Amino acid sequence: MNFRKIAKAWGKHLSGEPLTEEQLERVKICATCPLKSFKTNIDVFANDDVEQISGYICDSNKMGLNEITGEITKGCSCYLPAKVRDNDSKCPLGKW
Ligand code: SF4
Repeated sequence: MNFRKIAKAWGKHLSGEPLTEEQLERVKICATCPLKSFKTNIDVFANDDVEQISGYICDSNKMGLNEITGEITKGCSCYLPAKVRDNDSKCPLGKW
């Protein structure tokens, strides 16, 4: 993600913008992913649609198999409640 996209995604997160169906599906997938790690407590909008992944990042210290390419890939370090709101963002493991 470039800076502008990161800022836009964070803006959507911080404003508590409701998630689309596609984004809610991303939340469900990330919530069960072994690459996610709890790193922070930025629980500003605990009542929004991202409580399953609130405080979690896609951990660049963890690796997994990309479902599309078959390559071993590390997490992207993104804060998940913001990442799922960027429609152009991709899962490093090809899960969404
Ligand atoms: S973006 Fe992909 S790799 Fe990262 S936590 Fe979500 S499902 Fe896992």
